Amino acid sequence: MSFISLGLSESLLMALAELGYEQPTEIQHKTIPAVLQGRDLLAAAETGSGKTAGFMLPMLQQLIALSPATANQATMLVLVPTRELALQVEQAVRQYGRFFPRQLKTLAVYGGVSVNVQMQALRSGCDIVVATPGRLLDLLARNALNLRAVKSLVLDEADRMLDLGFSEELNQLLALLPKKRQNLLFSATFPEEVQSLIDQLLVDPVRIEL
Ligand code: AMP
Repeated sequence: MSFISLGLSESLLMALAELGYEQPTEIQHKTIPAVLQGRDLLAAAETGSGKTAGFMLPMLQQLIALSPATANQATMLVLVPTRELALQVEQAVRQYGRFFPRQLKTLAVYGGVSVNVQMQALRSGCDIVVATPGRLLDLLARNALNLRAVKSLVLDEADRMLDLGFSEELNQLLALLPKKRQNLLFSATFPEEVQSLIDQLLVDPVRIEL
C-alpha cells in the first residue's frame, strides 16, 4: 500500500518523496483514510510509530480545500503536553507542508518564552496551531486568538497531558471550541482519566490499535 493509494494529493506526495518516506507505517495506513473521511479517531500509539504524519498528512490535505484562516483564528488545533513536542510537531507540519499549494501558516505555542512574539504571529491567523494548554489559555485570555473557527482538534499524548496535570486546562479549552468539529486522540496508555476524556470528546470514533 502506497501513500498515493491512501488518497494523498500531489503536494504532500512530493514532500514525502523528498523526505524519503517510501510507504506508510501501519498506523498511517489506518489513520489517513479515517481522518480524510472526517471521522473522529482514537489511536493507541507510541512515539516512533509515525503517528505525527498519521494525523498531520490528512489534516493538511483537508486544509487544501479550506480557506486560509482569518485574523486571530485557527483552523486546526493540536494540543500537546510539552514544549519539545510542540516544536517537533510544528517542524513536521512545515516539512509535510513544504509544497503546499498556498502559503501555510503554522505556529508552535508554548510557555517559557515571550508571549508577544506569539501574539504577533497569531494576528493574521493560523492554519495550524500546535500548543501546550497553559500558554494557549493565556493567549486566548489576551484575545490574541479565538477558537471559533477550529475544524479539527488533535490531542497528542493525551495520557501525558493528564499526567502533567492539564485536566482543568483541557476542560476550559474544550468549552471554547465549536461543537461541530473533528476530534483525534492519541495516547500510549488508557487509564480511567484518559477514558473519561475519550467519552467526553469523541463521537463514534474509529478505533486504532497496533
Ligand atoms: P513519530 O512517531 O510521529 O514521532 O515519527 C517517528 C519518526 O518516523 C519521525 O522521525 C518521522 O520522520 C519518521 N517517519 C514517519 N513516517 C514515516 C514513513 N512513512 N516512512 C519513513 N519514516 C517515517
